[in-house]
Amino acid sequence: MNKPKLLKVYYCTECAELEVKTATPKIRGCKMSSFHKWIILGERGPDKYLCDNCGIKVNTNDIPTEIGCRKGTSHKWTKI
Ligand SMILES: [Zn+2]
Ligand SMILES: [Zn+2]
Repeated sequence: MNKPKLLKVYYCTECAELEVKTATPKIRGCKMSSFHKWIILGERGPDKYLCDNCGIKVNTNDIPTEIGCRKGTSHKWTKI
């Protein structure tokens, strides 16, 4: 039996691009740096969160991680 792979929300701390993948996305193609610098914000899920600082919106299971905000010291998530 194959266990379904969990989709995770990846975020590049250099260019703020978002990718939803089961594994780390390609590091090439970053607009702000030589390579994307991906961090995992959380597991893909039904809840929608908005960062009050940088304005990105993500769909996750739980409150996304706070690190990597480009407009402040940390993301400030509000459930929407
Ligand atoms: Zn990038
Ligand atoms: Zn933010």
